[in-house]
Amino acid sequence: MILRLILGDQLNPKHSWFDSPREDVVYALFESEEELRYAPHHRQKMLAFLHGMERLAHNLEAEGHRVAYWTLDDPRQQGSLRANLEALRAEIEQTGQTVQIEYQEPDEWRLSESFKGLGTCVPSEHFLTERSTVANQFAGKKTFLMESFYRVMRQKWNVLLNAAGQAEGGAWNFDSDNRSKWDPKQSVPAEWRAHHNLSELNERLDRHGIPSWGEASAEDFPWPADRAEALSILDHFIEHLLPLFGRFQDSLAEDQDFLFHSRLSFALNTKMLSPLEVVQRAEQAYRMEPQRVPLAAAEGFIRQILGWREYIRGIYWAKMPEYQNLNFFNHDRALPDWMFTGKTKMRCLSVAVDQSLRTAYAHHIQRLMVIGNFALLSGLDPSKLDAWYLGIYIDAVEWVELPNTRGMSQFADGGIVGTKPYVSSGSYLNKQGNHCAKCTYSVAEKVGDNACPFNSLYWHFHERNRHLLERNPRIGMVYRTWDKMNPDHRESLLDQAEHNLNRINEL
Ligand SMILES: Cc1cc2nc3c(=O)[nH]c(=O)nc-3n(C[C@H](O)[C@H](O)[C@H](O)COP(=O)(O)OP(=O)(O)OC[C@H]3O[C@@H](n4cnc5c(N)ncnc54)[C@H](O)[C@@H]3O)c2cc1C
Ligand code: SF4
Repeated sequence: MILRLILGDQLNPKHSWFDSPREDVVYALFESEEELRYAPHHRQKMLAFLHGMERLAHNLEAEGHRVAYWTLDDPRQQGSLRANLEALRAEIEQTGQTVQIEYQEPDEWRLSESFKGLGTCVPSEHFLTERSTVANQFAGKKTFLMESFYRVMRQKWNVLLNAAGQAEGGAWNFDSDNRSKWDPKQSVPAEWRAHHNLSELNERLDRHGIPSWGEASAEDFPWPADRAEALSILDHFIEHLLPLFGRFQDSLAEDQDFLFHSRLSFALNTKMLSPLEVVQRAEQAYRMEPQRVPLAAAEGFIRQILGWREYIRGIYWAKMPEYQNLNFFNHDRALPDWMFTGKTKMRCLSVAVDQSLRTAYAHHIQRLMVIGNFALLSGLDPSKLDAWYLGIYIDAVEWVELPNTRGMSQFADGGIVGTKPYVSSGSYLNKQGNHCAKCTYSVAEKVGDNACPFNSLYWHFHERNRHLLERNPRIGMVYRTWDKMNPDHRESLLDQAEHNLNRINEL
């Protein structure tokens, strides 16, 4: 008998395991208290992963596969994935059969380590690179440039190339055509959403006292549950959102949770969709006549998946387990209370945090340039921040959350992912959106009770980390500007920032 373990982020019914039903194979899916408790998760995230597991188990059974699904209520529960699997193995062995265990390569270092010696590990068949691809490409280098990795990927997978095998449109990257400020007159198509009633599952989580945070409407649950629904959110994106994806990719908007973003990360990270099919659908949409999808939009979107997503995974496997403890700036400040309530007077942050609590989603620029920017400027502890990002977002799985948070957003890796910290004063946030007009603070003011906190914190961050950043050629200009400022003004900016940091919970 072969016992095959399926993890909550391995919900790909197209895996070769499932090519045809076999009498000698049992698929095991476990609701595990250990997995639900190892970080405080948003309630929507728990519901979405468990519902996806239930649905895969149901669909596999309907196709004739043998499936063992243990809910939290199952009397055989041992709590952890490994203990459950061993208990199930013992149960089958009692019937006189020998049992071989197989599992797909886990994407998390923690699980990969804990499964060692358990059985045969098979490829997950989901990514477009091996775990070691990025490490091999950048062997001996300090900085791993995503742009060079991305070009290799475009060529390897024959994506957006012209007949001569060169970059379509004569360039690899069209970001100069993307990234407009938000236009409040622009209408946004209604988002795709499912309407699942997950009351039973929700009650089960309550019954077991699983701690969670964030809001969830279990009676009308919006996230896709299986591949068919994931394909339908993909169709919706290609049809309605992709044409304007690039243009508003970096916009920040009042009253718009999702803008033209795809919301595909949950379906991709649970493997309901394959990255290649998503990339190919975007390329096909661009090549359709008459042209509806500009090259800049298609290329910008494809780069996120073929480039960033695979690259981030490669960084994770190249640098774990050390990566999870890197803290280049030695930041150690506790997270402000409002990161768990959204109740701050800073409008950009209250919108981003409130939306994250409400929807378990924030788009990239909210994660990076609003929440992450503030966290870095004010020196929040990267480990606490990791736990926050890992808990709150529907798509948060450690292999992708960690390098994005520690690396891209917090520069805690000292420059492996990014060549300089992603920080800005209020003016960048004002340029990209329309939050500042509704803010208690004034984006134009730098000191005083009304001044936008980002403005003084920006200079404080650079001044306090001068010894670490000054020699970075991409930051030199910032220090030249700072040094030219009137010393009294510099002093008042630093005092203002200290004042803000001392009352961070009241900002
Ligand atoms: C601090 C921080 C934490 C993040 N944590 C996560 C996380 O836990 N899980 C996660 O999937 N993404 C994470 N990201 C990356 C990115 O913000 C999300 O993938 C994206 O916002 C998901 O929304 P979407 O599907 O609408 O993306 P879109 O904007 O529509 O982009 C399309 C797809 O590209 C991929 N993608 C885009 N940017 C990245 C990136 N930087 N790294 C990896 N894939 C990317 C995603 O699969 C995404 O679905 C994080 C970014 C930051 C700055
Ligand atoms: S003024 Fe500052 S805090 Fe307020 S919304 Fe603008 S950038 Fe954010």
